[in-house]
Amino acid sequence: MIRRKVKAKLPWKPVFPKTRRELARTALRTERPEVREATYNLDHGRCFWPTCQKPVALGAAHIHEVVWRSLGGSPVDTEITVTLCGRCHAHIHPRVGGLLKRITGTRTEGFTCEEKQPDGTWLEVC
Ligand SMILES: [Zn+2]
Repeated sequence: MIRRKVKAKLPWKPVFPKTRRELARTALRTERPEVREATYNLDHGRCFWPTCQKPVALGAAHIHEVVWRSLGGSPVDTEITVTLCGRCHAHIHPRVGGLLKRITGTRTEGFTCEEKQPDGTWLEVC
């Protein structure tokens, strides 16, 4: 007779602790929902990236700050915030492999969007 080990049943945990990253994201969202909505409306509910323009839901949209906070950027300034889809935002903040997209400028002066080409040069797409 084959006896199988039966896994001990652990008590069910209904709530998993949030990661620090998740907590930070939530905090940022609740701090400035009006900026999020204003940016979303300025970009007509679509990804700002010219070659993407994918419609995104307000809750799923990524609000990208073009100017780093450490360089004087403000998270409540819609002049330097753009709506992006998750994919385009990941290309701007890559974890591996370096930047694939970059964006500079302001909303009034116009943003400059550049995509990295396979040969390493940058192509302006807006
Ligand atoms: Zn996109």
